[in-house]
Order: sequence, then C-alpha cells, then structure tokens
Amino acid sequence: MNKEHVDLLITDAAEVISCDGPAEGLAGDTVRHLDPIFNGAVAVRDGKIVAVGDTTELKSRYYPKRNFQADGCLVSPGLVDPHSHLLYAGSRHDEWEAKVTGRGIDAGLQGGIHRSVAWTRAATDEVLITQAGRDLDEMLIHGTTMLEAKTGYGLDQDTELRLLQLTNSIDHFITVIPTYLGAHVPPKEYLQDTDAYVEMVIDLLPQAAKFAEYCDVCCDPIGFSSDQCRRIGKCAIELGLGIRVHADQTGNANGGLLAAELGAASADHVDYTPDEDLIAMAAAGTAAILFPSVTHHLLEMIPLPKYGELEAPPKPFMPQLAERTINSGCVVALSTDYNPGSSPTLSMQTVMQLAARLFRLGYAEIWNMSTLNAAATLGRGHERGSLTPGKRADIIIWRVPEHGMVIHRFGTNLVRDVFVAGEQVIDQARFA
Ligand SMILES: [Zn+2]
Repeated sequence: MNKEHVDLLITDAAEVISCDGPAEGLAGDTVRHLDPIFNGAVAVRDGKIVAVGDTTELKSRYYPKRNFQADGCLVSPGLVDPHSHLLYAGSRHDEWEAKVTGRGIDAGLQGGIHRSVAWTRAATDEVLITQAGRDLDEMLIHGTTMLEAKTGYGLDQDTELRLLQLTNSIDHFITVIPTYLGAHVPPKEYLQDTDAYVEMVIDLLPQAAKFAEYCDVCCDPIGFSSDQCRRIGKCAIELGLGIRVHADQTGNANGGLLAAELGAASADHVDYTPDEDLIAMAAAGTAAILFPSVTHHLLEMIPLPKYGELEAPPKPFMPQLAERTINSGCVVALSTDYNPGSSPTLSMQTVMQLAARLFRLGYAEIWNMSTLNAAATLGRGHERGSLTPGKRADIIIWRVPEHGMVIHRFGTNLVRDVFVAGEQVIDQARFA
C-alpha cells in the first residue's frame, strides 16, 4: 500500500485526547464526555491536523518527514485562554497581603485597579510590550496557544487606544485576540459622572474597532449599569465588533441578561447571575466563562480571621454555580482572567487544577472547557481548540501519561513540548 506523505507524525502517546466537538462548543451534559485514544498518534501536514488515531494504524497510512516520539506521554490540543488583561504596568502584591491577613488597610478591588491604571498610563510602550512578551512566553511554556487580551488599564482615550494598538501589534507564537474594554471600571476622574465617561468610551469605538475584534463591558455593581453597558454594546455591534461582558461578579447587575439580549459571545464570572438569566444566555448562544483562579486568589471560599472570630467566606457556592451554568445549557469555558489584582496567574494548567479543587468539576469537563469551549467563545471553534482534521496543529505533549494526572497533580509545569501550527516551539519546557 502506498503511504501518504505528511510533515509530522506524533506517535506512541499513552493517550491522545482530541477534545473534538461542534464549532459552537460543548453545551450542557455533552461537556462531561471525553474519549481518549490509547496508544494514539497525530498526523500533521501544512500546519494542520490530517488524522488522529491509533499509532499502528497511522504508521501504516502515513510516511512522515518527521516522526516525533511521544514516549508514552499524554497528547492534547493547545490550551485556549479566553479572558485576560494582558497589558498593564506594576504589581499590587503589597495590598494583597493586607487582604489575605485581614490586617492593615482595606484595599478594595476597585481602589486597586486605580493604582494599576496610574502606573499603566505612565508606562512607555516599550515597558508594556516587553512585559507582555515575557508573559506570553510564560503562558506558552505552560501550554496556552491562543489568548484573548483586553485593554482596561488605561481608562482614558489616549491610553486605551495605545493599549489596543500595542495588543494588535504583538507578534508571538500565541495567537492574541484584542478586545476593547474601555468600560472596565469608572476612572477616578469620572466617579461623580459615570455617564460622561460612558460617552467617552463610545466616542472611541470607531477608532477601537480598527484594532479590536471584541468590545467588553463590565456590567457589575463596581462597573457600569446595564443601561450604560447596553448603550456601549449597541454602538459596538453597529461597528461590527463582537460583544463580551464582565457580568455580575460582585452582585447581580443584570449582566448575564444583558449579554443574552446583545447576543454576546460570552458573559464572564456570572457569580450572581440568576438561573433564568443563565437559561436566557444559553438560548442566545452566549457562553459562560468561569475563573477558579479568581476565587482562589481573592480567598473567596476561605474564612477570614477578624477580631478573634472567623468571618464566613463570601462565595462558598462556587461548586453550585459551576453546576448551574452547565445545567442551564450554556457552553461553559475556563480562563485565567490574568490581571494584576484578582488573578496574577499566567497558567491555564493552574486554572484547570483549581477548577477541580474549588468548583468540583471533573476531568472531562475541565479539559473541554479549557480547549474547544474556550476557542468557541472566541469564535474560533471551527479552526482551533481540538485535534480535529482540518484544524491548526496546536499540540501539547505532557510529562504525564493520562489526562486526569494533569489536573490531579499541582504546583509544577507538566508541559513537555508545544507545537504551534505543526512547528515545535517548546522542547522539554524550553524554547526550541
Ligand atoms: Zn476580567
């Protein structure tokens, strides 16, 4: 039999998990299934997946330019991180200690953002882009091959536009999808007149639309009202931007409902979104994105010692929220929410590990939510997020043989090798 030529054949994987599914993502109960291929292999040509299957079978069908031994390791799609605040300056580790111990100043979430905003406005392009480059390298080494990146630490027209242009100019192995988040929180100068700031956000939209794919609005008690977010969202839609919503993180501001009304790609956080609004999101095709790393870093499930007593944690209900979002029929995805305040982690691996520990999600759910479903929320479910013939060959070789072990273990980087569009870019956790 004449063998077909391919560029790359990855063979002898203990497991290949394809995370295959519909381009719009795995909704409801379907997210709870994953079928590993044992002794698996992946064939790649011209940067795209050609076939996924049994090693013996694929070896008999394909003649590769390069045969890559997976040595009994796990092989998976590249991880997709659908919500990050990549560009900012400075670190707020000092105020976090006060929050952790309950001693000293009460550094609120909103107050914290204003410090990052001041530092970001003052930072040069070079400082911002150098830090972003380092962060992206670190993400790649931990298995992320596609990332959504928001503005939101400028909160004035000049800086927001500058952040968008910088995000748009990034050239990295990780695909970066830019989002305009002018309406993150009201800046200090506009706390007394948030409507005036909303007008400024809208004013910048035609310019922002040249550099961004999505417009995000923070529909939350610490952000903007659903009326204000609706005004921004409608203008953004007219300019051809997709919509994402920071919804109901600190209280129900009807963010989930607004996301459904606007046909948003995703409503993110949804901590306080009621069931009926989650169901409306599912009907509108709006995904829910959850952030176990935020719950972890803000210690939202850990009691706080205060005046000799233990204060109850504000969000012991996160496992129920995770279950409700799945049962509502939404496509659910996981993400880092990488940012200097509530989630200073670059690692989707860590997020996956925390999703089991804090949200009590199972291995199959977590893998599907960090690959195909995350890509689907970025409108990339047809070309990324799974090892499916025709999709781009973004592939991870892990140090462990089974997919459950990536989640069961924690605290070290388990990624061994990374392929982007069929090219090896990480070799033994170092740049190739
Ligand atoms: Zn965010």
